[in-house]
Amino acid sequence: MKLTLFFNSILLFTCCFFMSMGMYAQSVSVSAAIKFEKWEAGTVVDESEVQAYGIDKCFKAEIIKGATLNRMWNKSYKEGCPIGRERLRYLKVLHRNADGKTQLGELVCNVNIADKLLRIFRKLYDAGYKIEKMCLIDDFDADDERSMAANNTSCFNYRVVSGTKTVSKHGYGLAIDLNPRYNPYVHTLNGVRMVEPANGKDYAFNRSKRKDIPYKIDTNDLAYKLFIAEGFSWGGNWRTMKDYQHFDYRR
Ligand SMILES: [Zn+2]
Repeated sequence: MKLTLFFNSILLFTCCFFMSMGMYAQSVSVSAAIKFEKWEAGTVVDESEVQAYGIDKCFKAEIIKGATLNRMWNKSYKEGCPIGRERLRYLKVLHRNADGKTQLGELVCNVNIADKLLRIFRKLYDAGYKIEKMCLIDDFDADDERSMAANNTSCFNYRVVSGTKTVSKHGYGLAIDLNPRYNPYVHTLNGVRMVEPANGKDYAFNRSKRKDIPYKIDTNDLAYKLFIAEGFSWGGNWRTMKDYQHFDYRR
């Protein structure tokens, strides 16, 4: 009789232990879930939290409405925009930040390249490729120079090509600028050589020989290979100017 009581106590203790562990695990995933549901770009998350939440939910395309539309309105998306918001998508992606940690990222792009970008950014994430920052350009009031100077990776922005009146491919959500501070845009305007962003000038020249450029994009780079494989072209291959950060998709 005493022995039965002893085993019952053990059983009860074991049940309580596993139940409390279960509740603990559940509370961790609930707090992580809130982080993922809010999806504030720049938030650092644990690998375990990503696993618990589900990695496929972290690479998703959504239609543009509500709070996202409010963030964009009169900044990247405004009157006269050549593309309607129903042709744009808000992408949630994960990326590795400067420390290699997992960070929540976001992009707005043309619906025609949404799946391509999800595939590319998933592969870059799985490979541990570093992208310092990926939040909407609206957080910089759609000011391209400020976004680039902060090394922010971005896509859609209704604007003209720098120094011209032509609507940029970014205005259609068909171009990406990746790690732009370290992969600047180098061109000549009215006889003056320009580097955009200005704080990228140390990374603008003699790039093929240099090994001291962080996040450097060249033809050996994984991002270059993935974008080319999905049908994009690279601004670093242009002849009269060089836009090392820029990949665009020609419809
Ligand atoms: Zn660009």
